[in-house]
Amino acid sequence: MNPKNPVIMWFRQDLRLRDNPAFSSALKTKAPIVFVYIWSDDGSNQWPMGGASRWWLHQSLHALDAQLLKRGTALIIRRGDSLSSLKTLAQETSATAVYWNRRYDPHGRAADLQIKSTLLSMNIPVHEYNGTLLIDPDLLTNKTGHPYQVFTPFWRRYQTEMFDIARNAVPTQLPSSGKRLHSVSLETLNLEPTIDWAKGIRATWTPGETDALRRLKTFIRTQCVSYEHGRNRPDQNHTSQLSPYLCFGEISPKTIWHELTAQLGSDREKAFHVSAQAFLRQLTWRDFAYHLLYHYPQIPTQPLRAKFNRFRWNENAQSLASWQRGLTGYPFIDAGMRQLWTTGWMHNRVRMITASFLTKHLLQPWQRGAEWFWDTLVDADLANNSMGWQWVTGCGADAAPYFRIFNPITQGIKFDPNGNYIRQWVPELGTLPIPWIHQPWEAPPLLLAEHQVSLGVTYPYPIVNHPQARKRALETFTALQSDMDSSFVDTS
Ligand SMILES: Cc1cc2nc3c(=O)[nH]c(=O)nc-3n(C[C@H](O)[C@H](O)[C@H](O)COP(=O)(O)OP(=O)(O)OC[C@H]3O[C@@H](n4cnc5c(N)ncnc54)[C@H](O)[C@@H]3O)c2cc1C
Repeated sequence: MNPKNPVIMWFRQDLRLRDNPAFSSALKTKAPIVFVYIWSDDGSNQWPMGGASRWWLHQSLHALDAQLLKRGTALIIRRGDSLSSLKTLAQETSATAVYWNRRYDPHGRAADLQIKSTLLSMNIPVHEYNGTLLIDPDLLTNKTGHPYQVFTPFWRRYQTEMFDIARNAVPTQLPSSGKRLHSVSLETLNLEPTIDWAKGIRATWTPGETDALRRLKTFIRTQCVSYEHGRNRPDQNHTSQLSPYLCFGEISPKTIWHELTAQLGSDREKAFHVSAQAFLRQLTWRDFAYHLLYHYPQIPTQPLRAKFNRFRWNENAQSLASWQRGLTGYPFIDAGMRQLWTTGWMHNRVRMITASFLTKHLLQPWQRGAEWFWDTLVDADLANNSMGWQWVTGCGADAAPYFRIFNPITQGIKFDPNGNYIRQWVPELGTLPIPWIHQPWEAPPLLLAEHQVSLGVTYPYPIVNHPQARKRALETFTALQSDMDSSFVDTS
C-alpha cells in the first residue's frame, strides 16, 4: 500500500473514536485517514430516521467533529447516495481502502453489499468489522444450527464469553491527508426541527462519546448497585439511560461489558454483583434483538408469528391520537407518553405498559405504535423497537403470552407507588393524593374540585373502560389463538 495515499473511515452508527474496531484498524495502516459521514435521505430507506433521532444525530456529528478537530483533522460530511458519494470521495483522494463497521438492518446490509462489490471492482477493498454488537449475529446458532428464537439459551451462551475491546488509546494527533476536501455544513442537512419542539430533549441529553463514557462511569459508581431491585421504577433513577448512546454507537456494548465486569473482580457488595448480572442480561437483549432482525429482516413490519397477520385490529385514528398525545385518561399511560414526547425517551417498564395499552386495550396495530416510537425516541432502534413491540403484542420471538394484558392502574400503583412519576408528567393531577392519582375517575367529586381537577375538562375521562377493554382484547386474541400458527416453533 502506498503510505501517501489515504484510507477512508466511513462512520455510520458508530460515532465514536474509542473502541471502534474499524477506526483502530484504519489507524494501524499508518496511512492518512479521511473521516466521512454521508447523509442519505433519498427515500430509498423504508425507515428514514425519525425526528428525535435526527436531532440527536446533529449533536452527535458535531461532537464527533470536535473530537477530530482536537486531533488535527475534521469530519467530512457529504450528502447524497452513499455509493456515489463514496466513489467520488475515493477518486478525489485516491484512497486505497475503505473501513467501516457493519450494519445489520435490512436496508444497510443490502446497501453495503452493493457498495462493497462496486468498490472492489475499482480495486478499493472494504475492511469491515463488528463495532455494534457483543457477538456478530452470523456467528451464533443454537444447538440445532438455527438462529436463536428463545432468549434464555442465548443469554446462557453470552455468560460464558469474554469480549475483547480495541484497547489502543486514541492518539492525540491523527494522520490527515492534508488535502482540503469539500464538506457540506451540518446545518444544511436540516436535521434539527424548524419549529423547535426539542427543548425538553435538549434539556435532558448531551449527545456524544464524552457524555456516554461519563454516564457509564456514573452508572457503575452510583446506580448499578440498585439496578436489580429498582430497574422497574420509572419514578426513580436506576437504569443507565445509555440507550441513545448505544443506538448511535457513541459507546460500544463491549466497552460497557468490559467496564462492568472489571468491577466484578473487586470487593464490591453482593448487591452490586447481582445487579451487574441483571444489567448485562438486559444488554444481551439488545444483541438478541439484532440477532432476530438479522435472521428475520421482515420483523419491523411483519409479525414473526404469521397468523397474527389475520388479527382483527380495530384501527381508529382518534384512539391512536389520544394515546400519542398522552390523553387516554389513564394517568400512568399518559405520564409515559408525555415523558416520551418531552424527552425523547421512556422508561422500559412504561414502554411495555403503554405498548400493551395501545395493542390490547385500544386494539390498535402494533406497527402504528412502533412508528410513533420510531419518530419520537432518541434511541429509536429498528431491532430493539421491532422486538419490543412484537414481544408486548405476543406475536414475536419468546414473546409475552397474548393473554398478558397489563392493568394500567395496578401497574402504576406497583411501580409508581407514590405517584411521583405521574405528578411529574401529568401536572394537572399533581396534587391529587394516593390512591386517586392512579384512577381520578374514582375520586370523590369534592376531592377532585378541591384539587382543581375537572374530569372531561382539565383531564380526560378514561377513553376505554379497563374491565371491558380487557375482555374485548381477550376475546379477540383467543379467537386468533384457537388457530394459532405452530409453524414458528422454538428450536433452541
Ligand atoms: C415497545 C418497546 C419498544 C422499545 N424500543 C426501543 C428502541 O427503539 N430502542 C432501544 O434502544 N430500546 C428499545 N426498547 C427496549 C428498552 O425499553 C430500552 O432499551 C431501555 O428502556 C433503555 O433504557 P436504559 O438505557 O436506561 O436501559 P438499561 O436498563 O440501563 O439497559 C442498558 C441497555 O441494554 C439494552 N436493553 C435494555 N433493555 C432492553 C430490552 N428490553 N430490549 C433490548 N435492549 C434492551 C439497551 O441498549 C439499554 O440501553 C423498547 C422496549 C419496548 C417494550
